[in-house]
Amino acid sequence: MPPYAFFHNEFVPLEEAKIGIMTNSLHYGNAVFEGIRGNWNSQQKQIYLFRLNDHYTRLLNGCKLLKIALPYTVDDLCQLTVELVQKSGFTEDLYVRPLAYKSSEALGVRLHDLEADFFAFVIPWGKYIDADKCKCGVSSWRRMNSNMASPQTKITGQYINSAFAKTEAIENGFDEAILLTEDGHVSEGSGENIFLVIDGKLVTPAVYNSILVGITRGTIIELAKNELGIETIERSIERNELYSAREAFLTGAATRVQPIGEIDRRIIGDGEIGPITGKLQKVYDDVIRGNNPKYISWCTPVIKK
Ligand code: PMP
Repeated sequence: MPPYAFFHNEFVPLEEAKIGIMTNSLHYGNAVFEGIRGNWNSQQKQIYLFRLNDHYTRLLNGCKLLKIALPYTVDDLCQLTVELVQKSGFTEDLYVRPLAYKSSEALGVRLHDLEADFFAFVIPWGKYIDADKCKCGVSSWRRMNSNMASPQTKITGQYINSAFAKTEAIENGFDEAILLTEDGHVSEGSGENIFLVIDGKLVTPAVYNSILVGITRGTIIELAKNELGIETIERSIERNELYSAREAFLTGAATRVQPIGEIDRRIIGDGEIGPITGKLQKVYDDVIRGNNPKYISWCTPVIKK
């Protein structure tokens, strides 16, 4: 079974979904995307799409900013995604990439007077960061703020900020970058939010620290409270607090819960996966694979039984 794409309002084999070289969004970064996980449950022989609704709500918020009016509601987008994953027939962990873009084949940097379109495709995708405990480096690139661009949306052009930081981190021997805000507070990773454990509580940058308000971040705040009785404080974090935290981890739909072993070549805690991080990894993994009935409303099953 070939993988499929949803393209020009229909399901087509992925290899047939092509766009022209003059497509406006290719030139000016004025498209918006999502990254949605499909999680394979080997006992149930089922794939669960996680928090589909929330991802498409965020996508449509980005569309509004870009003046893209899609002919689909959040429900339509959820339904077509389920159908796309069904058709593609994978039985492993997946990643769905929907993207809304300015499809006019016309040059000129702008948002207005351009046609828009939407596509989505699905690929198998396992671990995002290939390390049990990753090494992070504070980036020389600052996270853009909401007067330059829109940190709270996944607008494609903005990812040059993440790409600069990620490649700098990799070339310096780290696995991931941590970007600071313009005024030097901790913001987030190149594609993840960051949490620290300080005095037994979770601490994470707030919306005003130019973060993308991650769906995984929200999930972790809720699970930490409900399942572990641990409160999360959302506040500005000083760079030095990174080095003295007991535990640190990254969160993202693709990344899930990723323990951090060191930052700027300083060991975090005792260098092992911390007890709170370990518990959250386990709780999160159960929830996204549909193994925790309490949170099953976040999981959309794909395979028809
Ligand atoms: N920050 C950035 C810059 C991201 O690209 C992502 C991934 N979408 C995140 C944070 C985490 O967001 P989420 O948990 O919704 O995937």
